[in-house]
Amino acid sequence: MALKIPPGSRITVDTLAREFGVSQTPIREALGRLEGEGLVIKTHLMGYSAAPQLTRGQFSELYELRLLLEPDAARRLVANLDGSNLAELTEAAGVMAGRSNKTDERARYSEFARQDAIFHDLILKEAGNQLVRDILAHQHVHFHIFRLLFHSRVTEEALAEHEAIITAFEHRDADAAERAMRVHIERSRDRILPVFE
Ligand SMILES: [Zn+2]
Repeated sequence: MALKIPPGSRITVDTLAREFGVSQTPIREALGRLEGEGLVIKTHLMGYSAAPQLTRGQFSELYELRLLLEPDAARRLVANLDGSNLAELTEAAGVMAGRSNKTDERARYSEFARQDAIFHDLILKEAGNQLVRDILAHQHVHFHIFRLLFHSRVTEEALAEHEAIITAFEHRDADAAERAMRVHIERSRDRILPVFE
């Protein structure tokens, strides 16, 4: 996640085992888990390597997918709102917890990325289509974004956009919820695009 192992570079089990002073088994297990999370790639005969950064094309596809699924999920969620999931969503939106007290930019960004992943997943969960939720979870959207933006900032604007989504939920306004989610994802895309220039 911190790009200490450069994206795309090889990871050798031997070297890691020596570095950590353990046998190969826990290293292979750890790499297997990271592979499941999309952070490590295993290639036949080649072994393990750190997942490459998304290309611009992959990034655009990912955001097209998000724009197809997430605004619609926000719309459908409105019909399922009750006091308890609304409170949960509001907390997950991170708006109330607000501007983190962490002073280190990188720690703040890391915290935001984790929170954002939880918020978006919760919307998909409460919208009620498990298949849609699984499809997006499988893309590891937030891992990829985190790695792309690791050397950067971004949080305050996104929190304001989350607030707009929550406000639409509070008003039980399906159109506004769909619109607010679309705006949030489009702006997120536009904040990240300069990385590719
Ligand atoms: Zn968000």
